[in-house]
Amino acid sequence: MFRATKRPSHSADVGGFRIELRRRAEDSAALRALTRICPSACFRFGESDRIEFSSENCTLCGTCRRVCGATGEIAWFAPERIGAPARRLA
Ligand code: SF4
Repeated sequence: MFRATKRPSHSADVGGFRIELRRRAEDSAALRALTRICPSACFRFGESDRIEFSSENCTLCGTCRRVCGATGEIAWFAPERIGAPARRLA
């Protein structure tokens, strides 16, 4: 099991959901694969060959959540209800 840092390095609010990229010391193969398989090209290689996340064209397809489910590098949070904290989705 991979462990991600607690603080997100990139996060975005999309359609009420929050998607966070939680960096590890090195990007996993699964995270790197998202540069090829995210249908909206939200992931790209940035400085020092690290993965950058931009939600600009995200369609909430869920691919990143499934592909990185085991690494913990992508976290999704359900829309906040009034007065309730955001709830992390599995
Ligand atoms: S939900 Fe789909 S479109 Fe949005 S960032 Fe993840 S893989 Fe890309």
